[in-house]
Amino acid sequence: MPIEKNQVVLFHYSVSDEQGNAIEDSRSGEPNAYLHGHGGIVPGLEEALEGRNAGDSFSVTIPAEKAYGPRKADAVQRVPVKHLMGAKRWKPGMIAQVKTEQGPRHVVIAKVGLKFADVDTNHPMAGKTLTFNIDILEVRAADAEEIAHGHAHGPGGHH
Ligand code: ZN
Repeated sequence: MPIEKNQVVLFHYSVSDEQGNAIEDSRSGEPNAYLHGHGGIVPGLEEALEGRNAGDSFSVTIPAEKAYGPRKADAVQRVPVKHLMGAKRWKPGMIAQVKTEQGPRHVVIAKVGLKFADVDTNHPMAGKTLTFNIDILEVRAADAEEIAHGHAHGPGGHH
């Protein structure tokens, strides 16, 4: 069945930037599951998946506005180094996780000193035109609970 609202889609993806640098590839791990039509993935990708079928493979290039949005210039913040999670030693360009009032988020290390680091809280893929290569593995109807929660359950989804 073609993908439409309230269907759960299981897919593998890889994503690269405009220079062709690979950023992420899910194929070495579990595929992702999302509930179509609920904003669970970036808007440009959700649009590109609409009407596709299980077994389809395609690639799509998405501008930043329909991916992770533009970079914000005022998004650099100073945080204690001990609040950075994910590594023991930090260098500029590394991605760390920090706890914020909005929950855990990924930041890019801009500068690091002994006690404090300047981190860029823009999404690491903000401001980038991204090319996704997608393999659709499975499309199924969502159950009532998934629709109520607004996300997919089971392997690759929530819970
Ligand atoms: Zn749920």
